[in-house]
Amino acid sequence: KALLEKALGEFSLDLRLITNSTNEKLKGEGFAHNKLVVAEYQSAGRGRRGRQWVSPLASNLYWSLGWKTQLPVQQLGGLSLIVGLAIVKALNELNITGVELKWPNDIRYQGRKLGGILVELSGDMVGGLQVIIGVGLNVHMASNAAEAIEQEWINLQELEPTISRQQVLITVMQCLQSYLAHFSECGFESFLPEWQNYDECYNKKVAILQGEDVINGIGAGVDANGAFLLQTGKGIKPIYAGEVSLRFR
Ligand code: ATP
Repeated sequence: KALLEKALGEFSLDLRLITNSTNEKLKGEGFAHNKLVVAEYQSAGRGRRGRQWVSPLASNLYWSLGWKTQLPVQQLGGLSLIVGLAIVKALNELNITGVELKWPNDIRYQGRKLGGILVELSGDMVGGLQVIIGVGLNVHMASNAAEAIEQEWINLQELEPTISRQQVLITVMQCLQSYLAHFSECGFESFLPEWQNYDECYNKKVAILQGEDVINGIGAGVDANGAFLLQTGKGIKPIYAGEVSLRFR
């Protein structure tokens, strides 16, 4: 705990054994200052659009960072992408390589899901936005929980057997704070070259699903706002994260 607190600098720490969801916890309580909530178990862990995030006890990492920012909401489009980049950077520092990012919020290894990011806005906007950055990262999934996950997934311990949750969390927090500071100062555009290095969709055939609609194309990177660029027969179309899902074809 002391090491984590040191790594957190100005972020205060709230360690929980059990919570419904670390994002909900921050949303419910609000936060006057930057804050990290970490839980050992989430009874109602969430992905995007209400999907379940499987969160067994003492197996993986589940945390949310409450981050106050003066950035206007229009400049937050690339936030979940730079959070992914900070996590990849931290994993690289721990000798875990080959991790890729699937726009807008998946952390994957050879097509298997290692973690997910859920960015939400909360609270009133007086004196800056309150942003909640939630992350679930599989470290050592309890085997009885695994069957609840309806897609291919993987654990960090499969990639690096000696890894510990504490090590990962501390290294991620150090990287994330420096990425957030750089993002606040220079915007997402300055991360574009780094995104290209880990963009799982680049040059791949993908489908964008929006409700009943499907748009097929080829991944052509992201733009300076973090929108996905889809190469279609009619040229390049920017896709914004909101209500869409991306699938490989
Ligand atoms: P989209 O592309 O629309 O975001 P998604 O499947 O990536 O779709 P998310 O909301 O990002 O959806 O994540 C939720 C999904 O992730 C769940 O429906 C489940 O398939 C999968 N999942 C849930 N828990 C875990 C976990 N611990 N590890 C890996 N994958 C999980």
